Amino acid sequence: MTVYNLDIKDKKLFPNFTQLPYDNDYDVTFYKEDAESGILRPRHHWCFLVEITEIVPWLRPMYYAKDIDGQSVFIAFHTDDRSPHIARECKVGDTMAIMYAQSHAFMDGKIGIRVESHDYVKLLHCSLEKVLDVGEALISKSCHVCDKPAKSQCVNCAMKYCNKECQTADWKLRHKEECNIIGRCFLRWRCFDWWKFEFFRTP
Ligand SMILES: [Zn+2]
Ligand SMILES: [Zn+2]
Repeated sequence: MTVYNLDIKDKKLFPNFTQLPYDNDYDVTFYKEDAESGILRPRHHWCFLVEITEIVPWLRPMYYAKDIDGQSVFIAFHTDDRSPHIARECKVGDTMAIMYAQSHAFMDGKIGIRVESHDYVKLLHCSLEKVLDVGEALISKSCHVCDKPAKSQCVNCAMKYCNKECQTADWKLRHKEECNIIGRCFLRWRCFDWWKFEFFRTP
């Protein structure tokens, strides 16, 4: 299986709120016209990462969150079933990953994200800072603990280690949890080339 390098610092793949395409515009940096159908298709995959800062009590899931640069973002789910599992599971401090997010102007004048399908949303029960740290560490070629050249790696997420001692110690200390929450998610994300769009991917 090919594991692609996925750079979480690349703002084209992980844009902040201001960089997202607007849902009423044809943004040529994110979309291109399909030659046969004339329908707009993404040029590449992208994912909007936010940390939930406030749960808005309402009939459907609604949140305030902060993006990767700390900007506050309003997020509202407008899904047919009102996404009860999201409402149940999402806590303040969780990270939400929204594939192909676009900014939207709501009727009341708010600008935010209107989620129409929770298939493209993944909840990670950890902070955004942790997700960014682990995401960055995953593309490093040196040991996650001591920065020496790596000779070993985690079977679940391919995190690199210099030797089994570092790996075993780190598993007990922190990696067991970060691997289960973030590592596995990233391994799935790294199974495809984010620069090549063939079809919409769920996170
Ligand atoms: Zn080491
Ligand atoms: Zn791992």
